[in-house]
Amino acid sequence: MSEQLNPFKVAQAQFDEAAEILGLDQAMRDLLRWPRREYQFTIPVKMDNGTSKVFHGYRVQYNDARGPNKGGIRWHPDETIDTVRALSAWMTWKCSVVDIPLGGGKGGITCDPKMLSDGEKERLARGWVRMVARELGKHRDVPAPDVYTTPQIMAWMLDEFETIVGRSHPAVITGKPLALGGSKGRTDATARGGIYTVREASKLLGLNPKGTFAIQGFGNAGQHAAVLHPAILGGGTLVAVSDTSGAIYNPAGIDAAEIIAFKKQTGKIKNFPGAKAITNDELLALNVDVLYPAALENVITEANAAKINANIVCELANGPTTPAADKIMYAKGIHVIPDFLANAGGVTVSYFEQVQNTYNYYWSLEEVCSRLDRKMTEAYHNVYRMHLDKKVHMRLAAYLVAVQRVAEAVKLRGWV
Ligand code: NAD
Repeated sequence: MSEQLNPFKVAQAQFDEAAEILGLDQAMRDLLRWPRREYQFTIPVKMDNGTSKVFHGYRVQYNDARGPNKGGIRWHPDETIDTVRALSAWMTWKCSVVDIPLGGGKGGITCDPKMLSDGEKERLARGWVRMVARELGKHRDVPAPDVYTTPQIMAWMLDEFETIVGRSHPAVITGKPLALGGSKGRTDATARGGIYTVREASKLLGLNPKGTFAIQGFGNAGQHAAVLHPAILGGGTLVAVSDTSGAIYNPAGIDAAEIIAFKKQTGKIKNFPGAKAITNDELLALNVDVLYPAALENVITEANAAKINANIVCELANGPTTPAADKIMYAKGIHVIPDFLANAGGVTVSYFEQVQNTYNYYWSLEEVCSRLDRKMTEAYHNVYRMHLDKKVHMRLAAYLVAVQRVAEAVKLRGWV
């Protein structure tokens, strides 16, 4: 039977396994395996050539028992309501596993941003906000960037929201440029947080933190991981990277600054001098100390999980591994740091951004990073303890920690 690759079905299957071990009652399961609210809408945009084009937009508020909904907005041609539902569920578990007082949400627009001019992107961003403005606010729902959305897009969205409500409200959206109330350290927070967990895992498992690493997906999360991995771990050799143009490999090492500059200049990593072309599948199968999936969902599946040869898989991307692949890697002894733990640094610094906006007082980069380090280290060790106590793989352990906390909040509110 073929593997289920609908990300929302995957998210529900992962939740169901945790709910069974936690012994949640049926009503709690029925509540927590679905979003509480969903919005789907159309966004008409005047294009540069004078025509109008209609885009499909989404906002899903998964669960706000522990605090206001929080989660990014993805712009992608393959975006569907089920992708947004899955991502909103993972946001709920993510905020819970790092114990920040927020719920989970996610948004998106089905579009190909590579085909849009800056003017078209601005009108699309403002159009999305107009459709959900009444739902947004620091006490209700706070969006942020995700795949193919940027601080500039957050700036347009903030401006549209403040124009609608007629007052300053910087905490309505995070991932803003610094000049509009963004937090220092937000841009690289996802990668930084993930590498803190790799550092902790390496200590506990006695692995070589200065060994080799490979990165699948070379956008925000992937590029920062290339730079920060050696900076935080005190060494390490980047041997392979990939993006939608292909993958490259050099066992002697790829210079992070050079490959980032090359990608900036040419828009892709393909044809980078000094590294040979390999396939994305070959990259995933490399014998490295750490593999960072940093692109999209369903990258490690039943079909290729047995070929993974990394000691640690640190999932900077959301949903890169299917449930069947999890079991295969667990049996192989691969230490998977699961997505909603590994990439929680992004939302943690987004939360810090909201806190700073609310106080109207801003922290130094050192302060942001040390607070992030504390949060990620504590969360990693909580999950690791659960993994040992219950003898389950790290993803299931992360679910047990996170779902238990959300279920407690739901119960205390008397919802079920
Ligand atoms: P991004 O748009 O900056 O980069 C995505 C990268 O993935 C691009 O380089 C693209 O070329 C590459 N890619 C897409 N499909 C690929 C494929 N099939 N093979 C190889 N590369 C491919 O996005 P990002 O912000 O870096 O997000 C990446 C992942 O990290 C997503 O799953 C996102 O949800 C997750 N994430 C990001 C943040 C954040 O703060 N940016 C926070 C938490 C989770």
